Order: sequence, then C-alpha cells, then structure tokens
Amino acid sequence: MIPFGDIKNINKRHARDLRTVFERVLESGWYILGKEVQSFEQEFAHYCGAAHAIGVSNGLDALHLILRAWHIGAGDEVIVPSNTYIATWLAVTYAGATPVPVEPEEGSCNIDPDRIEAAITPRTRAIIAVHLYGQPADMDPIMAIAAKHNLKVIEDAAQAHGALYKGRKVGSLGHAAGFSFYPGKNLGALGDGGAVTTNDQDLAQKVRVLANYGSQQKYHNEVQGFNCRLDELQAAFLRVKLPTLDVETERRREIAARYQAAFQDTPLVLPTVKAGVEPVWHLYVVRSPKRDVLQQRLTEQGVGTMIHYPIPPHLQPAYADLGHQRGDFPIAERIHQQVLSLPMGPTMEEAQVTAVIEAVKAVYR
Ligand SMILES: *Cc1c(COP(=O)(O)O)cnc(C)c1O
Repeated sequence: MIPFGDIKNINKRHARDLRTVFERVLESGWYILGKEVQSFEQEFAHYCGAAHAIGVSNGLDALHLILRAWHIGAGDEVIVPSNTYIATWLAVTYAGATPVPVEPEEGSCNIDPDRIEAAITPRTRAIIAVHLYGQPADMDPIMAIAAKHNLKVIEDAAQAHGALYKGRKVGSLGHAAGFSFYPGKNLGALGDGGAVTTNDQDLAQKVRVLANYGSQQKYHNEVQGFNCRLDELQAAFLRVKLPTLDVETERRREIAARYQAAFQDTPLVLPTVKAGVEPVWHLYVVRSPKRDVLQQRLTEQGVGTMIHYPIPPHLQPAYADLGHQRGDFPIAERIHQQVLSLPMGPTMEEAQVTAVIEAVKAVYR
C-alpha cells in the first residue's frame, strides 16, 4: 500500500532532535510565550522575507486575527476564492464579515484576478488570495486591484510555505499572510499551530495583542482579545523542522516533475504551473471527469488518494444562510467534481513514485 501521505515518517527523521527539544522545554518550566516562540518567530519571518512573524494557535486563527486587527467585521465584505478549503471562508464569518466568492482560473485553480473587480462593492474591505495546493496566486494584478480600490490583501499561505512568486516568498507578497502548521502541512507541528507574517509593524503589534487576551502587559487589557497563542513546545518542534523544509520541498518538486512527465500521454488534466512561480506541491492534484472511477481503480491497486475538496464552501450546509445555489460558481463546482490528489511527500521513495505512475497508467491501458 502506498499511503497518500506519511506524516509519521516525516517526523521520524527528526525524532532525536524533537526529543531533545522536548526535554529542553520540559526542563525550562516555561510553556507559553517564551524563548522558543520568540526565536521561531524570528526564524520564520526571516525564512519568508517578512519583517514580522507572530506565532498563533492555527491557520484559521491567523486569518481571523488579521481581519480583526483591521476591524473588518459586521457589514463588511471580503473577497475569497470559490475554490478553497472552507477555513478561508470561516475566518471571514468568524470575524462577522461576509465572504464574497470569486471563481478560479481553470489552470492554476487559484482565484482569477480578472474576475475580482466585478465582485467589489462599497462594502468590500479585503481580498483573501489562497495559494492553493502550494502554488502562489497571481499576486501582482491582485495587489494592483487592491491599491486601486483601497483594499487589504491577505495571503492564505496555509499550503504554500516557501513557495515563490517572481522570486519572492509567499508570506511577504500581500499586506499580511496566514500560515498553518497543522501536522499535514508542508511545515507541520506535532499538533496545531499557525503564524501571521507581515511587513506592517502596526498590524503585527495588533495581532500579537489580540492573540494574547488583548493584553500587552499582564492583566492590563486594552481590547477584547482571544487566546490564540502558539505553544512553546510546538514552536520548539517547528524550529527543528524549519531548517530542512527546503530540502523536503526539493523532493516534492522532483516527485511532481516525474508525475508531470509520466502523465503527459494520459487523458488526465495535469496541474498547470504559471510562468514566474515555483510551487511547493503541498498536493499534486490531477483532474478527470471520471474521478470517482479513477480513485476506485487506484485504491484497488493499493494507491492511497484523497479529494481536495469534495464539496465547495458555497454548497456546504454550513453556508446555506448565504443563499448560494448549485450552479452559482460552476468552475469551482467542476473542479470539486474532478480533482484527485495523488500520493505526495518528502519521504516518498523512487520505487513508490514509480508504482504510483504504473498504477495510473494501468487505469488507461
Ligand atoms: C489548513 C488550511 C487552513 C487552516 O489551517 P488550520 O491550522 O487547520 O486552522 C486555512 N486555509 C487553507 C487553504 C488550509 O489548507
């Protein structure tokens, strides 16, 4: 059986160092907002080429806190991709604002900059661009539209740690970015974790205060905040894993390149990589009108696959109150019906990649 992903083996490679830092944190007697978080924030900001990083509890909270810090809430609209993981939308509704979906480009599956302006109203305050599957969204036109309409741009970089857009790292491209360190993400903790990155010092300070009960000085509360902190222990684990992220990304790129070459002569629609971007292949996602049959055949051959994602946010019962109907966002709906994610990860061996390729080819023989 070739697993879809292999988090256990990714972390096993770091077992000795993870145990060492566990001891270090245990012995320190200091478990919240200490040296590990502070150091990780510096290291991660440097990695992203951003001036500031703030460790937070998870990716959803990272996005939510950015919106809160800008006082985006009830009565405001935020443009989101129609094709994304639901957490992007949840951040908006959590803040009390309304998500306004915009359809993706067929090729990259990322938000289509050419469709954004039609969705802007006097209530629009921000655009959330998601770097879906690890490929950066087309940020230059998005930033230009935002500048023209005086909007904030948030990158949802939960799937794209280290991805490059025109030579610049995600997390430094918009006005702020939210990252997730959920165990299955490219940089994963041993539990939940997240970060906000930004070059805006004022925003950084506000997010930091909001994430810690709205307080800068213990028991002095300036604003009604939240408890959305990153643990010392998770920060210490992330510090162990960050230095090898680029090596792991290289391995993901090799696997993606092998898949791309091998599947050229199949009927599958392969991922399109736009000029000027270097994805980090959080997921390798193919498309087929007969997706369910393909998945079934691969399962029979012992190849683990997943669907990211089976139901678009606008058709989830959770968002019935927004009143969207089937057919409202046909590109996203078609993508959700056709996508299949193949095994991908830095611990995959050549023989496993070959086996996946053979299994896919067998379906079309
Ligand atoms: C994982 C993910 C999130 C949420 O991150 P959590 O840490 O799980 O809260 C947000 N957006 C996208 C695109 C994601 O993949």
